[in-house]
Amino acid sequence: MSITNIMIPDISKIRKDFPILGQKVNGKPLIYFDNAATSQRPIQVIDRVNEFSLRINGNIHRATHFFANKTTEAYENARETLRSYLNAEETAEIIFTHGTTESINLVAHSFGDAFVTVGDEVIVTAMEHHANIVPWQMMCQRRGATLKVLPFGDDGLLQHELLDQLITEKTRLIAVTQVSNVLGTVNPIAEIITKAHSKNIPVLIDGAQGAPHFKIDVQALDCDFYAFSGHKMYGPTGIGVLYGKRKWLDRIPPFFGGGEMIDKVTFTQTTYNEIPYKFEAGTPHYVGAIGLATAIDYLNNLDNILISRYEHDLLMEATTRLKQIEGLRIYGEAPEKVGVISFNIKGIHPFDLGTLLDQMGIAVRSGRLCADPVMDHYGVENMVRASFAFYNTVEEIDAFYRALIRLKAMF
Ligand code: PMP
Repeated sequence: MSITNIMIPDISKIRKDFPILGQKVNGKPLIYFDNAATSQRPIQVIDRVNEFSLRINGNIHRATHFFANKTTEAYENARETLRSYLNAEETAEIIFTHGTTESINLVAHSFGDAFVTVGDEVIVTAMEHHANIVPWQMMCQRRGATLKVLPFGDDGLLQHELLDQLITEKTRLIAVTQVSNVLGTVNPIAEIITKAHSKNIPVLIDGAQGAPHFKIDVQALDCDFYAFSGHKMYGPTGIGVLYGKRKWLDRIPPFFGGGEMIDKVTFTQTTYNEIPYKFEAGTPHYVGAIGLATAIDYLNNLDNILISRYEHDLLMEATTRLKQIEGLRIYGEAPEKVGVISFNIKGIHPFDLGTLLDQMGIAVRSGRLCADPVMDHYGVENMVRASFAFYNTVEEIDAFYRALIRLKAMF
């Protein structure tokens, strides 16, 4: 793919919405390639969040004054924005959490308490983020169940044909990531869901890396749970979503206890509120939810198809360039991949690479990427990861490539 062939939406216009991108870091124009860790926020989101600090602030669902009414209305409207974006059947199926991690912990805990018992099994994949491993492991330990693991190959593809061998009569749930945060692989979640449902097994999708790249239709997908974080999709930190089918949410117990999640409290017995409130104990991050809905509005105003083609073109361009560098190994080259490239360069420690790139104004991630089993699969301690968003440019990829060439020459 040559640079000139790339389909370009009006990126310079889009970049003006992200004031943070115009800065210099270490004296160099910032190139932000750590979008899989957290994305930047458009001014529309920042303004909306500020509005709910500067002019309007009142705790939701609790009082009758002007501020409380305004925030409650904006919070519940945000829930509707999320419902519509995900095409959930009803707003009651949208639970606001602090992020993907809390969403998965909620399901592991509450679903585990209701439906998992001694000898049962839960299946995850070997390419999961720790957030989609550890909560299940903890739950299995608590309930006396077994965690089983679907492997992937060196190419970064799940060996999902092995799923038939892993599923047994004891399988209570399958938890799988839509997109790997290390390999960028887009997993065949629709097929996995169909297979699981043919055996009456519910499926949780970790959408932390999927939701920022794909428009999700939870009804078409027919997933039982879908979890994601606002901060990876141009929204604020500390806010996330758990979508769950009513048939499950009604049947599983609350995760946290406290205000708002109750119907009636006495010292002998407490009854719980309706969903979604049953799962939203205490004061939620309502400003975050309102900001996330603004980020969704922003995404809804972009040309979805053009943006995803552009992101794909950026990935292809970066892959082609990086492959020209001798001694550079890319981990994960699935045909269906999002804009995430994890790699190592022979003879350069990933942390050195990350630090030196930072001095050149280029932000990448280096480390274990919260995916120890993926590191173990490839027999490495760490990797460097560059991850792209629609506000990145071909010029930035070119600068990144040239920076890597310079650094390689230094070592
Ligand atoms: N799952 C995946 C695939 C992720 O990439 C991440 C974030 N790196 C998480 C879960 C956890 O997200 P959060 O830290 O926002 O809860």
